[in-house]
Amino acid sequence: MDGRRHAWVGLLAALTVAAGGCPDTGRSGEGVAMPQLDLSAGPAAGPWTAPRPAPAPAPTGGDWADVRGSRRWRYIVVHHSATDSGNAAQFDRIHRAPPNGFDELGYHFVIDNGRGGPDGRVEVGSRWRKQKWGAHTGGTPNNAYNEHGIGICLVGDFRDAMPTRRQLASLRRLVRYLTERYDIPPDNVIGHCDAPNAATLCPGQTFHRYLVGDFRDDLRRYAAR
Ligand SMILES: [Zn+2]
Repeated sequence: MDGRRHAWVGLLAALTVAAGGCPDTGRSGEGVAMPQLDLSAGPAAGPWTAPRPAPAPAPTGGDWADVRGSRRWRYIVVHHSATDSGNAAQFDRIHRAPPNGFDELGYHFVIDNGRGGPDGRVEVGSRWRKQKWGAHTGGTPNNAYNEHGIGICLVGDFRDAMPTRRQLASLRRLVRYLTERYDIPPDNVIGHCDAPNAATLCPGQTFHRYLVGDFRDDLRRYAAR
């Protein structure tokens, strides 16, 4: 990428987004998202070996599984919108508009809260279908948390409140699926504020305590089952 673009990205990273979430950076590396072959099918079984069990099906209702190839995902970064209401289409407009000027919605997924979209609905962002870098967690070394981080935004302001039960159930289902499919360890499921150099309270203190506590414990049990 060229230097002017880089400088602009740096400027974006320094800005605070007032509405529609907390994405605070741009991007790098467009065009490097090479599709990778899915090698998970395993070798063909010989005549005397037991058939391999079928891979776990995608969670019900999740069209997030319908992507070709994949990026090298290493992290899952959870955000809140810091708004009472909203949905992916609204945040997409805000992210494209000045002062953000993003290419499109910065997150890969948005989980609605009943005010702007059905409570608990998982909206699959256009970035996810393209397996494209995120624009949600800037300022980290080598922009690693955008390049290799899946951004999930829950609609709501969780400084002093929790997401709805349906939002949490959807988050659990989605994150279980993503960690299993992309072999992401539970400790790499973080809140935005946990990212290196992050100067933000996103996804809100109340939700964050739960995310890195009980939620992550549940993920560990799921991974170890
Ligand atoms: Zn955030």
